[in-house]
Amino acid sequence: MASNILTSIFGSRNDRLLKTYRKTIERINALEPQYELLTDDELRGKTAEFKGRVGAGETLDAILPEAFALVREGSKRSMKMRHFDVQMLGGMSLHHGKISEMGTGEGKTLTSTLPVFLNALTGKGVHVVTVNDYLASRDARWMGRLYSFLGMTVGINLPSVSREEKQAAYQADITYGTNNEYGFDYLRDNMVYEVADRVQRGLNFAIIDEVDSILIDEARTPLIISGQAEDNTEMYLAMNKVVPTLTLQEGEADPRTGEGVTKPGDFTLDEKTQQVFLTEQGHENAEGILYKLGLIPEGATLYDPSNISLVHHLYAALRANHLYHRDQHYVVQDGEIVIVDEFTGRLMSGRRWSDGLHQAVEAKEGVAIQAENQTLASITFQNYFRLYAKLSGMTGTADTEAYEFAEIYGLETTVIPPNRKSQRGDQLDRVYKTTKEKYDAAITDIRECYERGQPVLVGTTSIENSEIIDELLIKANLPHQVLNAKQHAREADIIAQAGRSGMITIATNMAGRGTDIVLGGNLEKLTEPVTSDESLDEAVKAAEVVKLKEQWSAEHEKVKALGGLRIIATERHESRRIDNQLRGRSGRQGDPGSSRFYLSLDDPLMRIFAGDRVKSIMDRLKMPEGEAIEAGIVTRSIESAQRKVEARNFDTRKQLLEYDDVANDQRKVIYQQRNDIMDASSLREQISSLREGCFIDLTRQYVPFESVEEQWDIAGLERVLRDEWQIVLELADEIEGSSVITDEDILEKVDKAANAAFDAKVAAIGEENFLQFERIVLLQSIDTHWREHLSSLDYLRKGIHLRGYAQKQPKQEYKREAFELFGQLLDSVKNDVTKILMTVKVQSADELGQAAAAMENRAENMFNVSYSAPNEDGDAQIQDEDDPRQKPLPVGTPTVGRNEACPCGSGKKFKQCHGKLN
Ligand code: ADP
Repeated sequence: MASNILTSIFGSRNDRLLKTYRKTIERINALEPQYELLTDDELRGKTAEFKGRVGAGETLDAILPEAFALVREGSKRSMKMRHFDVQMLGGMSLHHGKISEMGTGEGKTLTSTLPVFLNALTGKGVHVVTVNDYLASRDARWMGRLYSFLGMTVGINLPSVSREEKQAAYQADITYGTNNEYGFDYLRDNMVYEVADRVQRGLNFAIIDEVDSILIDEARTPLIISGQAEDNTEMYLAMNKVVPTLTLQEGEADPRTGEGVTKPGDFTLDEKTQQVFLTEQGHENAEGILYKLGLIPEGATLYDPSNISLVHHLYAALRANHLYHRDQHYVVQDGEIVIVDEFTGRLMSGRRWSDGLHQAVEAKEGVAIQAENQTLASITFQNYFRLYAKLSGMTGTADTEAYEFAEIYGLETTVIPPNRKSQRGDQLDRVYKTTKEKYDAAITDIRECYERGQPVLVGTTSIENSEIIDELLIKANLPHQVLNAKQHAREADIIAQAGRSGMITIATNMAGRGTDIVLGGNLEKLTEPVTSDESLDEAVKAAEVVKLKEQWSAEHEKVKALGGLRIIATERHESRRIDNQLRGRSGRQGDPGSSRFYLSLDDPLMRIFAGDRVKSIMDRLKMPEGEAIEAGIVTRSIESAQRKVEARNFDTRKQLLEYDDVANDQRKVIYQQRNDIMDASSLREQISSLREGCFIDLTRQYVPFESVEEQWDIAGLERVLRDEWQIVLELADEIEGSSVITDEDILEKVDKAANAAFDAKVAAIGEENFLQFERIVLLQSIDTHWREHLSSLDYLRKGIHLRGYAQKQPKQEYKREAFELFGQLLDSVKNDVTKILMTVKVQSADELGQAAAAMENRAENMFNVSYSAPNEDGDAQIQDEDDPRQKPLPVGTPTVGRNEACPCGSGKKFKQCHGKLN
């Protein structure tokens, strides 16, 4: 109460903000007479002048009044639309990185041109984000007239275009595209191996249309790029055959005398680290066998750059056979290898070892080798859009979610007043005791509208519900059209006609989003067949258009007189916002209109949240059967129930985000590393710091920190350096001859020797020649381990709630373990890269170049990639071209009943598959 009084005295923050914006509007309006005098060319000249001023350091805020005035003048001339003052308000709020709430039909598309143009003056790119491709193309073409009139370039970023076309779209001053496509491009840009393959150029400013759909409804499911690994079955089987031919070396060899080996062999085992190492003899023997199997050419060695992946497979096969034991490390269950948790003994179903080990174990056990499907990259919309230097959005319905926008994205919501006050009457909910009574009442209402000639839009929140209403209307003999969100372009056409007299349209929430329902129908659509008819002569055309316009006017007035568009719904959505979206389709630009929700005590929302309360009100009022209750108090209890659900959903999204934040921070680190590597002109420092870390770790296993000579295992260290790294270092003699040598001295000696070995290799081949190879090895190693890390995180997240039992905070635990896993990832990269670069044998720069190219090629084509994004209900939907459900049925497919299996072979009922309403 107190706050209401204060608000009425001082005005709300929103009012105050609009007041300051209005002052700027006065300045913009004052420029109009001046700009009207300029020629088209002079107007265009202004764009260049502004760009120059921005380049010279003038702020966008300072230029805003002139830029907005310019855009308005340009729009008047190129599109015959003059931005309303309220659109200027909306434009300013967008420019200031806020959400502009503007009702349907207020002209958000035109509004956005103001901040888009202004921010494009920096030349850093502006991204306009739409919910589907149809709207991206439509808006880009539509508003493109204005932009090109003003000398700005516009690009459309569609999923179907080539890399070059995408690059051009992003190079343009202004880019239109969907949230999915921007997000996928970002992920793909962080998977490429060449700078030239990137398509985006920085994330500067984005304006999200229908921002609530994108940042709230679709926020539950991340964008995922996943890949089915190439089929390496043959390789795993072949390597499994090589294993029995290689023998285990027994005993500890003294590195100098070679004594101590009780039985020489091809490889040694390290049970502690679960690693195997090939001995020199092992290398030779393996080479011989692989040559016989036709896997390497004659004379080739395992150290050749082109055989890196082969060695990898061989090691995996050796580890699978000698270090991983059935019923200890894993069990075989229903033809699958299931890992056993080494500490708890629990079966870890669904988890797979990485690095090809799992497949090697499958080959060993003779079960089917599964091509694993890996997540290659993923990001949530929240985290993608938070990457922009500036973000803003527009929608008809933001206010109810203002808190979430502020909390999660730091986005403030500005409620922009309508250009002309809506004349829509939102009637109180009618609540019935049973579902049947509810539907009866709704159908009666629809029939009355139809008989009067008033258009009706029946809004539903699910396809199931539209099916029910569809059937009821068929039974009632009322002609109608049914729409759900699948074919955006065609839908937009139909929605555009939904305002015609007597039209009944059933639409799910999402259908025809972004398309206006004009009373009397869309005039352009009406005249289009005539205006585009080449065979007609101009005079005939003009006369015909005049006639159609008159016809339209008459219908428009008639529908207006009948009360405009009526919105009818038979359920309340969980969120008030979605209900408001539906209502907002009526009463645009000062039009008349009305809305009514028909509900029953059986509706889920009522049952769970508001039922008892409403029921007791009904009982108190002694309501007879068949009659509805219609009272403010009921509508308010429903709204408070919705508020509860909204709060719960917000919590879920916030939780999800908190988990995702951990991965997000790590993703940023990895992507930054990748980018630095790709852009670097030398990788010397990075590589040598990796190498140093690697050898410190190695040495510390034999010579612990701050230890004394008695604790050292110098022989072990010498052996591993020689066998594994081909570094011959005679440490024992030196130590014997000196009394003051410390563990640090040994570290230094090893480091020096490693550096010398590496430098000699680089010098032989030339540093520049080595660079590209180093780059590919680094990138590939980061990518491989990052993918594995993603799946570990996923697994960790799924299991973390079990920690609750142990009185641990799952979120804290998750963070801690994720951090540890990330440390392991960095260690693996360090060791892998050092290993490959130190042991690879190269004869010539050419050979190295070819190896690098082959590795890059392999890395890029290693997976059959598929994309998954939230569908329009916010759930993940796989966009898989091979999915039978996503292909049209072939011509001539026999018809089946709605409850029979779909002929596409999906295994679903026809009505839930290809028989879905469309
Ligand atoms: P929204 O996205 O806000 O629902 P749209 O951007 O689709 O609305 O615009 C609705 C309609 O209003 C369009 O047909 C557009 O041409 C028209 N319109 C918008 N602004 C103006 C204006 N300033 N003058 C004339 N017509 C306008």
